[in-house]
Amino acid sequence: MKTVQDYIRTIPDFPHEGIMFRDVTTLFSDPRGFRMAVDQLLHPYMDQKIDKVIGLEARGFILGGAVAHQLAVGFVPVRKKGKLPGKTIAQDYKLEYGEATVEIHDDALQAGERVLIVDDLLATGGTAAAGIHLVEQLGAVVVGCAFVVDLPELGGRKHLTDMGMSVHTLCD
Ligand code: 5GP
Repeated sequence: MKTVQDYIRTIPDFPHEGIMFRDVTTLFSDPRGFRMAVDQLLHPYMDQKIDKVIGLEARGFILGGAVAHQLAVGFVPVRKKGKLPGKTIAQDYKLEYGEATVEIHDDALQAGERVLIVDDLLATGGTAAAGIHLVEQLGAVVVGCAFVVDLPELGGRKHLTDMGMSVHTLCD
């Protein structure tokens, strides 16, 4: 039987020379692959109290929306700067070259709500850490962070576990 990993392809030199890009569009486009990924992402959280799923732009929207539907909870996007229409709070974070900013609507979460953060891939953990900071600034609690792919050599799992987070990934 095929595993989640079998549906992911690697595209060399994207978006820059020397980068091996893990392309999950082939996982998303396969009905068995997509369902397997969503089911496995949410499995550890099925019996936990989750109030909202947070999806990180952009592939985290596709996975997070499906996970939220399965858990029968609401979905909240964390978006790149300037994309959300309402009043937002922002968090800067470091990229390999330069900086980026992510935002969340300031009324998207209530204090004390328990959230699950979802994205396709964990590399350095910088994007997820920025998402965690936004959630915590609104007084909500991160129950876990779930990703399809972990790139262990980039240290993201350690970065997030050092912040006290529980990290769930489907393949390395
Ligand atoms: P980090 O912030 O952990 O260094 O990078 C993770 C973020 O970059 C995620 O939002 C993820 O979508 C994106 N990303 C970085 N490299 C890849 C890759 O090889 N494949 C995919 N699908 N996303 C990547």
